[in-house]
Amino acid sequence: MFEKVLIANRGEIALRIHRACQEMGIKTVAVHSTADANAMHVKLADEAVCIGPAAAKDSYLNKAAIISAAMMTGADAIHPGYGFLSENADFAEMVEAHGMVFIGPSPKMIRMMGDKVTAKQAAIESGLPVIPGSEGEVKTVDDALMWGEKIGYPVIVKAAAGGGGKGMKVANNPTEMAEAFTLAKQEAKNSFANDVVYIEKYLQTPRHIEIQILADNYGNVVHLGERDCSLQRRHQKVLEETPSPALNAAQRQKIGEIATSAMKKLGYSNVGTIEFLYENGQFYFLEMNTRVQVEHPITEAITGVDIVRDQIRVASGAVLGYKQEDIHFNGYAIECRINAEDPNTFIPWPGKIGQWHVPGGLDVRVDSGMYAGYTVPSCYDSMVAKLIVHGRTRNGVLMRMKRALNEFVIEGIRTTIPLHQKIIENPEFIDGMYNIHWLEKFLEQNTEKSE
Ligand code: ADP
Repeated sequence: MFEKVLIANRGEIALRIHRACQEMGIKTVAVHSTADANAMHVKLADEAVCIGPAAAKDSYLNKAAIISAAMMTGADAIHPGYGFLSENADFAEMVEAHGMVFIGPSPKMIRMMGDKVTAKQAAIESGLPVIPGSEGEVKTVDDALMWGEKIGYPVIVKAAAGGGGKGMKVANNPTEMAEAFTLAKQEAKNSFANDVVYIEKYLQTPRHIEIQILADNYGNVVHLGERDCSLQRRHQKVLEETPSPALNAAQRQKIGEIATSAMKKLGYSNVGTIEFLYENGQFYFLEMNTRVQVEHPITEAITGVDIVRDQIRVASGAVLGYKQEDIHFNGYAIECRINAEDPNTFIPWPGKIGQWHVPGGLDVRVDSGMYAGYTVPSCYDSMVAKLIVHGRTRNGVLMRMKRALNEFVIEGIRTTIPLHQKIIENPEFIDGMYNIHWLEKFLEQNTEKSE
C-alpha cells in the first residue's frame, strides 16, 4: 500500500480523497494555488505545497509543478480527482515516468476513451450498444449529408474531442446540415484544437443513465449499479439519483452485465463510469469517464462500497476482493449539487461565507470544503457543497432531502438551494417522469411565472 499520496485537486474532492487516505493510514500532500492557501484540504493534509498562482493553467493544470511537488515530498502516488488533469493521458504517463503511480486507469485507456470516435469504436468492439451514426470521422459536408440520409433526421454533429457540451450541433433536415457541420467543426477547432467531428442520431427524449465500474489489475470487474443524471442544465448535471426511476431490476441487471463484460474485454482497471442515453427501453453508449465522478456518493450510499478507498487499493496493486454477488443495493439516494450561483439567473455568486451550518441526522451526508468565514474564490467551479441523502424508500428520501435542504444555512453568498427545494416538490419529479430536457423546460416555466 502507498505511504504518501499527493492529491492533485482542490475543493470537496480533495477533501474526499484526503479522508479516504487518512482512514487507510496513508499520509497526504495537498497542492494548492495562491488563491487556495486557506482551503480546507490544505489545512487538513499532512503536508501542503503551493504550486502556482490562481489561474488553473498555472497551478492545478501545471503538470511540471505537480510532479515536482510529488518528488519533493516523496509521494508514491498521485490522485487526480475529477476535472483538471484527471483525464490527461500525458500527465498519467509523466507520473509513471517519474516512478509514481497514477491513481486511475492506464494512459492507453484514458487516451482511447478521451477521443469519442475511438471510444465509440472500442464500445462497439466490446459489445456495448451505441447510438446509430457515422463510421468514424466525417470529413466533408457531402459525407455529412450522406450520413444524414442513411441515419435519418434529426442527427447531431459532435466533436471527437468534445467535453462540457461544446462542439455539438443538431441538424433537423438536410437544409440544416451544412451549417450544423461547419459550426460544430469550427467550435471543435476553437475549443479543443481538434476539428474531427462525427455524426449520430439525435435522440429526442432520452434519460442519461450511467453505470459505475470498479476493476482491479487482474481482470476482476464489478458494477455498482446505475445513476440517473438526467436533470441537467446546459448539459451540466444538477441533481442525481440512484436507482433510476426508469429501470426495473431485470433491466438493471442486464445493463450491468453488459457493462461489466465490456470492461473485462477491454482490460479496464480502476474506477470508471460508462454513460448511456436511455430511450424506449434501449441503452446507447455515450462516453466513458475514466475517473471518479462528482456523483459517486449516491452509489456509496446504496452499496456501502467506499469507492475512493477501493480506487486507491486497486491502484496500489491490491485485488478487488469481492465479486458481483457480494454487492447489495440498499434503498435510494439523491444528491443535490449546491452551487454559489443565483438560483434564478445562475450568475456565479462567490464571496465570503458568513454563517455556515450543514444539515445532519440519519443518512444525511455533506461533502464540502467550505466553512464559516471562508471566501469562495471566483476563479474556479461554483459548486460549494454536495448534499447526499439516503433512505429505504424514494418518498422517504424526498422528505429527508426537503428537511435537510431546509436545515442548510449558507449566508453571505447566493446558492442554488432554493432551486433544489422547488425541484423536489414538483409532481413530475416526484413521479420520476423526467428526461434530459425536463429541467430546462421546468426553468423556463418557473421563470415565466415569476415575471
Ligand atoms: P460532453 O462530453 O460534452 O459532456 P456527451 O457526449 O457526454 O458530451 O453529451 C452530453 C449531453 O449532450 C448528453 O448528456 C445529452 O444531453 C446530449 N447528447 C449527446 N449526444 C446526443 C444524442 N445523440 N442525442 C441526444 N442528445 C445527445
